[in-house]
Amino acid sequence: MNERLRERAGPELLERLVHLDRRRPPPPTAPPSPPPGDGADFDVAIAGGGLSLLLAPALASLGLRVAVVERGRAGDVHREWNASGPELCPLHESGLFTADEVDALVVNRYREGVCRWHGGGAHPVRGVLDHAVDAGRLLAQVRVLAEKRGVTVLDRASVRGETAGRDAVALDVDGRVLTARVMVDARGATSPYATADLVCPTVGGVVAGLDVDPRVGDILATTEGVEEGRQHLWEAFPGRPGETTVYLFFYARAGDVPPGALVALYDRFFARLPAYARGEARLLRPTFGHIPGWSRLGPAPRAPSPRILLFGDAAARHSPLTFCGFGAMLRTFAPAARAIAAALDGRRYRAPDLFPEEPIHRFTGALARLIARPGPRPDALNGLLDAAFAALGSMGNDAYAALLQDRMRPEEFVEFLRRTAARRPSVYREAAGRLGPLALARWGGRVARSLR
Ligand SMILES: Cc1cc2nc3c(=O)[nH]c(=O)nc-3n(C[C@H](O)[C@H](O)[C@H](O)COP(=O)(O)OP(=O)(O)OC[C@H]3O[C@@H](n4cnc5c(N)ncnc54)[C@H](O)[C@@H]3O)c2cc1C
Repeated sequence: MNERLRERAGPELLERLVHLDRRRPPPPTAPPSPPPGDGADFDVAIAGGGLSLLLAPALASLGLRVAVVERGRAGDVHREWNASGPELCPLHESGLFTADEVDALVVNRYREGVCRWHGGGAHPVRGVLDHAVDAGRLLAQVRVLAEKRGVTVLDRASVRGETAGRDAVALDVDGRVLTARVMVDARGATSPYATADLVCPTVGGVVAGLDVDPRVGDILATTEGVEEGRQHLWEAFPGRPGETTVYLFFYARAGDVPPGALVALYDRFFARLPAYARGEARLLRPTFGHIPGWSRLGPAPRAPSPRILLFGDAAARHSPLTFCGFGAMLRTFAPAARAIAAALDGRRYRAPDLFPEEPIHRFTGALARLIARPGPRPDALNGLLDAAFAALGSMGNDAYAALLQDRMRPEEFVEFLRRTAARRPSVYREAAGRLGPLALARWGGRVARSLR
């Protein structure tokens, strides 16, 4: 398998994958507790300079002294992101960018997206993930803004451990100690506190040479049934002319992903890509990783101190169904910056609430758990998803888009369940079999309470 992958992806990518797959973070260090008082070096230290870098200029513009510690280079991004037009608005509403600058970050807009299921139908939707964003340019500009606003950016610097005291947190940065009144843990899936119960291993990247319609995005698509206990899904978003971002992924419970999963998934990506999309595919920029998700059916990821604030993937407060961390980050970064500033301004510090919970997430986590354990019958899950998306489509574009954009109301969700059950009466039995009685009872209770 590795030979085929080496040939298609190149030795360097294979090496990076094997490294990521095998990587076990070293045990954290524990720097001395910072002394009480207000002598911290910074107000906020952000550990990790990936997408959460958005927080840095927002905090600095509120007058806070901010440091970003990134083990690579802060703002270097190896991903591509899509969002709908309204989801991009916080970028200019927050004052970080002008509306024209945001417009210039969009490399493609498409007419509609589609969810389609093997053996079932195609279910189009408009206004969802239909703007492809130049992720590299976005974060490069965020970094420039951060530096202009006085943020201290430490590149190639790893947070090796941290100790929270009463008034501050001490961070061990490659053996040097840096202190901050709060630490924002934005280390993504590798944070020691990233204990979310679901994970979405994802591989793929920007591909040239595919024969796809640049005006249509594949939001979710399956081309086969359950194999080896997993339902693999594809996603393809046309980007710059001649380029398409293509991902292959599966949903899993966090403990169910063995070492080597990303290498195996990439091998599958290359082997099955010709059956998914026509053309002479050439991988231009590989992107891969694990996206955490929290089902809301168990405990949330938690930091050990109110002075350590989980953010982004470490907190996994985005949709457990779509794993759209980008859209969630756009909604969150500006209010989170204000909440942190308010908490540090008060006479008595209290951990700020960075994530007002979207009501829909209390319901959709069960669906994600169901996809994570799809059961032994190869096409049962495709049948269920097809019935669910046909039901969603029958509720109209707004309801369909609302589910994928985390803004569906509880009453709408119940109507969606009712319509799905009408199309597929076995749905409750199937859910009971896969979720287990406890999770099903917890979930059912929530749905019932939401209607009171
Ligand atoms: C392949 C892939 C494709 C994706 N596609 C989409 C998409 O299309 N749409 C969407 O909405 N979401 C997508 N996501 C999810 C989205 O990218 C994440 O939700 C988002 O990047 C999370 O931001 P973050 O800042 O929490 O973490 P990241 O952006 O992952 O950043 C974490 C940063 O922390 C750094 N770091 C880690 N440990 C340390 C340490 N000890 N010290 C210092 N630095 C450290 C890392 O180097 C990294 O730069 C995708 C994710 C992956 C993996």
